[in-house]
Amino acid sequence: MENLKLIMFDLDGTLAESKQPLTSEMAGLLARLMEKKRAAVISGGALSQFLKQIVDQLPKKANLSNFYLLPTSGAALYEYNAGEWKKIYEEQLSLKDVGLIEAAMRDAAAATGLIDFSKPAYGERIEHRGAQVTLSALGQQAPIDEKKAWDPDHAKRYALRAQIAERLPASEFSTRMGGSTSIDVTKHGIDKAYGIRKLCERIGIFESEALYVGDELQAGGNDEAVYKTDAQVQAVSNLEDTKKIIASLLS
Ligand SMILES: [Mg+2]
Repeated sequence: MENLKLIMFDLDGTLAESKQPLTSEMAGLLARLMEKKRAAVISGGALSQFLKQIVDQLPKKANLSNFYLLPTSGAALYEYNAGEWKKIYEEQLSLKDVGLIEAAMRDAAAATGLIDFSKPAYGERIEHRGAQVTLSALGQQAPIDEKKAWDPDHAKRYALRAQIAERLPASEFSTRMGGSTSIDVTKHGIDKAYGIRKLCERIGIFESEALYVGDELQAGGNDEAVYKTDAQVQAVSNLEDTKKIIASLLS
């Protein structure tokens, strides 16, 4: 592990429970890691979600100059500079693209019969995140227990993903499973592999000097794309596994 120069983490299911803040224990471990190495989080959420879930939970003295944020599945990169988060790039979707994607999502929801937009949800079901549009079956603020119970075997997300992808030109858009109830669409070729490549380039390291830690590395999972890079990969099943990995990196 000594040759590692960058440790990258998935967020939901790896550093925190879905949409929940980091525990103080996890925040403390991450801050200690940032004293020794560069660290990054790459996940489907928007920047505002990253700030709330991660950055606001870190100890005040955390070394943020060693920390990188890649929201919207790597479609954007932020680094900390002179007291603020500076955008290095963002692969924005145009308004026209957003319209096409939203129409495909609504059509796919109707075709699969899995989401009824006439019924109330926990917050917005379709969220525009700049570089990504996200469909959340139960709404953005659904309780975690309901989210976990909605699609435990991934079957609903597979069906929705396939129906959305079918309605969008594959040369222009990438469609994949996001969190436990969600589907993410970005510009074609934008995924976690893209984000990893861009970050390694930015800080001038080889991909093989980076480690990626995530809980959805299986085929079709939202971490699978990282296998397209030369980064080292460590699978976790839960937050406890992640704590053990950070602890071993610190020892
Ligand atoms: Mg995850």
